[in-house]
Amino acid sequence: MSYPSRRQRWYREKYLPSEHWTETSRRVRGERPWCEVCQDARSQNVHHLSYDRLWRERDEDLQAICRPCHERTHSRPRRRSASRARPEWWSYAIGWTVVVCIVVLLIEGAISK
Ligand SMILES: [Zn+2]
Ligand SMILES: [Zn+2]
Repeated sequence: MSYPSRRQRWYREKYLPSEHWTETSRRVRGERPWCEVCQDARSQNVHHLSYDRLWRERDEDLQAICRPCHERTHSRPRRRSASRARPEWWSYAIGWTVVVCIVVLLIEGAISK
């Protein structure tokens, strides 16, 4: 999952064990007993197609899925969340380096006047 790790941890430790999710996933698996990806195995997990509406998911945000398909889904980067992923720390570092260089050049320019 290409989610920021703090959010991912929150999701795993707080959201997944919540009563809301326990109920929701049980309901979705009851309504869709077969994996919606391979349609060949019983649904064992419920996957979020969208994380935008946590706590108030619509049915189309969720996908009943078997465990192997679920793991495959998460090991493949998802286009949608990749574009929204937070920049890595090094891109902040590069950004700040550029800012510092510009400031230094400005100061040097001011001094040499
Ligand atoms: Zn499957
Ligand atoms: Zn999932």
